[in-house]
Amino acid sequence: MSGDAIIRSADWVLTDEHGAGAPEGIFGVECMTCEARSPLFDNDQQPVAVWAIHHVQEQPEHDLFLARAEKHWRAVRRRHEDEDPPHAPAGTAAGFLDRAFGPTFVGLMCLITALSGYLMALN
Ligand SMILES: [Zn+2]
Repeated sequence: MSGDAIIRSADWVLTDEHGAGAPEGIFGVECMTCEARSPLFDNDQQPVAVWAIHHVQEQPEHDLFLARAEKHWRAVRRRHEDEDPPHAPAGTAAGFLDRAFGPTFVGLMCLITALSGYLMALN
């Protein structure tokens, strides 16, 4: 069962998206006194904090910020034949597996192929 389901409806399950290209968090901050906004940074709030310090150093009265941490959610359609685990349809699941494990798997297969070729050459 997927451990990161946020909510399950009759037809859909909402999960945190951890796929390739989905950062754990997108951080940004805006000044509550003026319109200034920091750039957005993936997976790291440190650059945003540095931006806030620079802003208040330039304008010491601008000392209140709205900090944001955003992330991606994905809704997956629920299969009705099994009630418990929220499986994606087969095509989607295969696509996800390919996305999640594809490069490693392909890399491993290349290594094995190269190795077996090497061993063959030795014989
Ligand atoms: Zn400001």
